[in-house]
Amino acid sequence: MDNLLRFINYVKIDTQSDDTTGTTPSTEKQKNLGRLLIKELKELGLKDAHMDEFGNVYGHLLGDERRIGLNAHMDTALEVSDENVNPQIIKNYQGEVIKYLNGLEMDPIDFPILVNHIGNDLVITDGNTLLGADDKAGIAIIMGVLQHYFDHPEESHATICVCFTVDEEIGEGPLHFNYQKMNAEYAYTIDGSYIDMIEAENFNAYGANITFKGVSIHPGEGKDKLVNALNMTSDFVALLPKQTPFESEKKEGFYHLNSIEGNNEVCELNMIIRDFDDQGILDRVEIVKNAVEEIKKKYPTGEVTLKIKNQYENMKKYVDKNPTPVNRAIEVFKAHGIELKQGAIRGGTDGATFSKNGLITPNLGTGSYNHHGRFEFLDVSEFNKMIEVVIDLVKQKFQ
Ligand SMILES: [Zn+2]
Repeated sequence: MDNLLRFINYVKIDTQSDDTTGTTPSTEKQKNLGRLLIKELKELGLKDAHMDEFGNVYGHLLGDERRIGLNAHMDTALEVSDENVNPQIIKNYQGEVIKYLNGLEMDPIDFPILVNHIGNDLVITDGNTLLGADDKAGIAIIMGVLQHYFDHPEESHATICVCFTVDEEIGEGPLHFNYQKMNAEYAYTIDGSYIDMIEAENFNAYGANITFKGVSIHPGEGKDKLVNALNMTSDFVALLPKQTPFESEKKEGFYHLNSIEGNNEVCELNMIIRDFDDQGILDRVEIVKNAVEEIKKKYPTGEVTLKIKNQYENMKKYVDKNPTPVNRAIEVFKAHGIELKQGAIRGGTDGATFSKNGLITPNLGTGSYNHHGRFEFLDVSEFNKMIEVVIDLVKQKFQ
């Protein structure tokens, strides 16, 4: 089957995850895509292709003794719906303002990234949904690689260990990931944008939930008695360093408030803390804890409860111990005329947790951009190029 057609088929299946259901998969509909993928994997010779009880899809294309993993996720982001995705193809894009079927426009002045794609075919949305190239482009690239080896049984290759995961967008891709089933020496997630970028570094991440409880008394008689939870909360916020996402870029970390909800009696604050550096993240956690202690001292009759938890870790220290997957990618991309740059993800990736658990998994690009929104698009040339490169990534002997 044509690789682009395959991609178009995948994005038409609604697979949005949901961070409120508490189940795995978080939405049953992700299995609709999983079932189609199993059928296609079997047709391409992955005899053991199956879905586990959590909706993750595994399969192996047997080859030589090396075992290289390829991973992409089936769900789409929460920000915009992926119901009734209606992909539109722009042939030979010439740098014009892109006009969507629903009247929306994407102007290269606001989206200078478009200039990089002049002369290429693009797949865009109709303006009403996201496209879901994140990460169905990754899935279609992996399928394109498998199709190639199905069409060319005479070409030798590594044993290709495939896994399509659920719930990446809610940070739960690795939750029930079965490393034994995957059985790879190392792997690649294909879930990024730029095809000349390999990402093997990401934030260290903590999440904090803080409840401030005041003492409620008629304000008219509040002198030395009334403790207002809203004041406790705002005093706490004032103690945080002015390092928000707005003030930070590149390798800088931040404190980011997600929500403050409540009233003068009880107020609950949720925030995230991010830093690339292993010591840096611990220092930031310490600053939050100290700020909580200060509030406790300032309001001895109030109550403050802090819940803080590690969300994910920077994969760099794990990747550094086993640089083979990154070095191998650099070499193979180079043979295709692409100088891979090493990028740092200002966020997380399933590969970070896989790497921590022993399966080193850097992230590669898909040729799709503006993820999580209506302006998401796929560059078809880059998508096809990635299929060519990944074919060699699991083919060539290395070292
Ligand atoms: Zn993704």
